[in-house]
Amino acid sequence: MATFGTLSDRLADTFKNLRNKGKLSPADVDGTVREIRRALLDADVAFDVVKAFTTTVRERALGDEVSKALNPAQQVVQIVNEELVEILGGTQRRLEFSKNPPTVIMLAGLQGAGKTTLAGKLAKWLAKDGHTPLLVAADLQRPNAVQQLQVVGEQAGAAVFAPEPGNGVGDPVKVAKQAIKFARDKVYDTVIVDTAGRLGVDADLMKQASNIRKAVDPDEVLFVIDAMIGQDAVATAKAFQEGVDFTGVVLSKLDGDARGGAALSVASVTGRPIMFASTGESLDDFEPFHPDRMASRILD
Ligand code: GDP
Repeated sequence: MATFGTLSDRLADTFKNLRNKGKLSPADVDGTVREIRRALLDADVAFDVVKAFTTTVRERALGDEVSKALNPAQQVVQIVNEELVEILGGTQRRLEFSKNPPTVIMLAGLQGAGKTTLAGKLAKWLAKDGHTPLLVAADLQRPNAVQQLQVVGEQAGAAVFAPEPGNGVGDPVKVAKQAIKFARDKVYDTVIVDTAGRLGVDADLMKQASNIRKAVDPDEVLFVIDAMIGQDAVATAKAFQEGVDFTGVVLSKLDGDARGGAALSVASVTGRPIMFASTGESLDDFEPFHPDRMASRILD
């Protein structure tokens, strides 16, 4: 994956140096941890996350599990792998479906993060699994947003609920409420609510997203974050956590050449799991996120 290319290469070099040593001295461990720290910081991983990560790796690497290991270097790689899985959220978290359909999934995030594209990806993925998704255009901020969702819905083969003139236009909260009623009446089992984003975190935007959340009482609120956002990832994620309180994270644009910091920081700083990864512009470039597989890819 392009996003982690440099980080992956740097860690590979670090471990190559380690493999040439038989037993590891505390100095070897410290040197290795220092290189890991630099590689993570250069990949834009948040400072606090790097600090906690390297402290744990160091403690474990100096402990019995390494000194008694047949292959100490391999054991250190294993520890780094386990701790990476941990900061990526531990075990995979699946979508929660409501026992009382429709299941409501709300999308939040900055403009351009990839929400509308994700709405289509999710709808297609859910439909393949036998669900009947309804896409809801509650982004009434951008002039083209409703139309863009309609195009995406067509590509995904999913129905789109959009405001009709004179019927709640301009009020995304009303539209979202009407959509839930419509889904219930027409027996759509999943409702995906696309919401407006701004270029930066903005109080009005948060208020609107928060009002939509209150109105539709979603089963999941997915915060979509562009992996390319780099150092801003942590502040943005925290602002959305305070503003709308999401239940899961979707990393988008993992196909780009971002350095990976956003991906590696967000679950850890928000305590919310990364649930999906978006890896391209096509609706099929999308997959559930597996922390263990992602860690293995980084350390491959
Ligand atoms: P929104 O403003 O949050 O709804 O973002 P959009 O869904 O409109 O996406 C913004 C731009 O990013 C569009 O040009 C999308 O085609 C593109 N995009 C979305 N997801 C991805 C992705 O995973 N990879 C790449 N390369 N582009 C993406």
